[in-house]
Amino acid sequence: MTHGISAIRGMNDILPEEVVYWQFIEQQLRALFASYGYIEIRPPLLERTEVFSRSIGVATDIVAKEMYTFSDRNGENLTLRPEGTAGCVRAVIEHHLAYKKACRFWMMGPMFRYERPQKGRYRQFYQVGVEALGLPGPDIDAELIFMSQRLWRQLGLSDDLVLQLNSLGDSATREKYREVLKNYFITHYDQLDEDSKKRLETNPLRILDSKNRELETLIQDAPKITQFLDETSRQNLKTLEALLTEARIRFVLNSRLVRGLDYYDGMVFEWETQLLGAQGAVCGGGRYNGLVECLGGESIPAVGFAIGMERLVEVLKAKQTMFPICPPDVYIVRVGERGGEEGLLLAEYLRDELPFLKVLSYMGEGGFKQQLRQADKSGARIALILGETEIASGKVSLKFLREEKPQQIFSKEEIKTILMSYFS
Ligand code: ATP
Ligand code: MG
Repeated sequence: MTHGISAIRGMNDILPEEVVYWQFIEQQLRALFASYGYIEIRPPLLERTEVFSRSIGVATDIVAKEMYTFSDRNGENLTLRPEGTAGCVRAVIEHHLAYKKACRFWMMGPMFRYERPQKGRYRQFYQVGVEALGLPGPDIDAELIFMSQRLWRQLGLSDDLVLQLNSLGDSATREKYREVLKNYFITHYDQLDEDSKKRLETNPLRILDSKNRELETLIQDAPKITQFLDETSRQNLKTLEALLTEARIRFVLNSRLVRGLDYYDGMVFEWETQLLGAQGAVCGGGRYNGLVECLGGESIPAVGFAIGMERLVEVLKAKQTMFPICPPDVYIVRVGERGGEEGLLLAEYLRDELPFLKVLSYMGEGGFKQQLRQADKSGARIALILGETEIASGKVSLKFLREEKPQQIFSKEEIKTILMSYFS
């Protein structure tokens, strides 16, 4: 017995019934980005491994255990991108894009992380990212949040997503805070789980992000980063809060929000939903002022966010927003010796004359009845029939598939006129 080949675990086929959701969101996104003056950039999916290890940080979960890394045939150490920002910044530096003027980019595509597959967490998943380089904020920070909020509004999700906000301060702040936090957890070492004990050395801030409920009180009582913020970060956060309040965007200050990538500094945020269970983060972002320099460019400030597309689609589905697949308008049924050829030519004629029309042609050897059954199944509203008589007289029969109306025979020009008024 032969076995079929299945997809790799955690890598999904996005099937046609689902693609309609994706296309709807993508359409909204393109229009939204254009209205804010953001332009698209498309870095490759594969980069040198150091692009990610240097920027995301070697002690993070992503770099330590989640990357798809391999040597290519030339012995180069390469990685499938686990996120988009690092590659975008690499491109910006390589092509000198952001030194003379500020840049506002968006991008969309698959990311790869070797995570434990579960609902809302996959090994290939799609992100839509936005990156603004060369602007110190907090005005641009507010713009990014306004933009994301506008998207939720357009998708009818305003009430389903909550904005969490924090600041991670400058690098001196985080260094100081890391020590304070480490000391705090050391004094409660016995209460920590194995994961957190490991993080104590490598990345103590990530303990704050633990999903272990038994650590809840311990984490709640930990010193807060807010107490250690440098003056600029404190001021910027305050201004951003005021801008959000002006714009009537609700937010929750969450001093435990640390994000999983080392390159973040200053303001960070996440949009969360209750509709998806444990994987509730739909969009995350923040400032990464040190990243351009860290990857070898001149120091320029930057900020960005990424939306998880699968989770956004799930939220729309949870809200029972329906997007039916668009059926064809017209289905061409043809019989007889010259039917196949005439059918294809009729379809081309209609596409020339009525570019908005969706035309599906029957292909293959099936009989008249079988072809009509296919026409019905396709969801088309009209079947155009080319039988022996029609072909001999250069005409076409028109049959309404969803209405009780008599079938009638017309010239091609008449068919064009009828379809034009019927489908406009
Ligand atoms: P999480 O806390 O859920 O692991 P994260 O902090 O690792 O998320 P980011 O790296 O900030 O996520 O990515 C931004 C967004 O991409 C997330 O908010 C989420 O919506 C989505 N995302 C991240 N990892 C995955 C994954 N493995 N599968 C599906 N979506 C993901
Ligand atoms: Mg993660």
